Amino acid sequence: MLSKILDFFWPRECAVCKGASDRPGRYICSGCLMRLPFLPVDGLCRCCGRDAPAVDGEFLCTGCSSPPRPSFDRVGSVLRFDGYLRELVNAYKFRGALYLRNDFVDFLEAFVRVRFPVEKIAFILPMPSAFANRFWRGYNQCDYLASALAKRLSVPYAGRALKRCGVFRKQSELTADERRVNVKGTFAVTAEGRRFIAAMPPGSSVLVLDDIMTTGSTLSECAKTLKKSSVENVWGVTLARSQMNS
Ligand SMILES: [Zn+2]
Ligand SMILES: [Zn+2]
Repeated sequence: MLSKILDFFWPRECAVCKGASDRPGRYICSGCLMRLPFLPVDGLCRCCGRDAPAVDGEFLCTGCSSPPRPSFDRVGSVLRFDGYLRELVNAYKFRGALYLRNDFVDFLEAFVRVRFPVEKIAFILPMPSAFANRFWRGYNQCDYLASALAKRLSVPYAGRALKRCGVFRKQSELTADERRVNVKGTFAVTAEGRRFIAAMPPGSSVLVLDDIMTTGSTLSECAKTLKKSSVENVWGVTLARSQMNS
């Protein structure tokens, strides 16, 4: 009975192939790890992180060089929201598979160290979830990832720097233009956020963590709100990047 309970909370098998995990404390085995859809770390738009297969080094994509330009300064995603990764992220987000956190934080940490000057990050904050989402799921999956990432990078963590306000529809049901309008004015900087911003060293940045990025309009609105409160640079990192279906 006890081992059944333990297996439920801390399965010792790989979350993908169900074989024994060969990585201590991790739930994606090394074979499955190699097959995950990691995005390239080169040939990316220096603003939104979109990849262009034929380009070497950095470039600025058309979406980021003509209005409406995104409000963030640099965003990157670790993996493509595809195949097994989609299953794993959904299990983590909606079915309480929190044991996957360390695997995901490994990916995020390695990625941030390659793509961002860590010493310039003043603090890390999670994308705030709508109260209703947190209520139904019982936890905010982004908080867990962001707080663990902050600890690994030895960067201050501001879990409640931003809050969501106002009424908005689920982004996944909307087109790209509708998404931009839908998130307008739905974030606000909290008293905690103002304290963290006041303590930022000159020339430093804020790093916002979200789980999945599609058009980037939520991250952009988040950045806009922070910039209205005198943050100079806003960076973003997401575990996965998804394509619009329509
Ligand atoms: Zn496996
Ligand atoms: Zn771009």
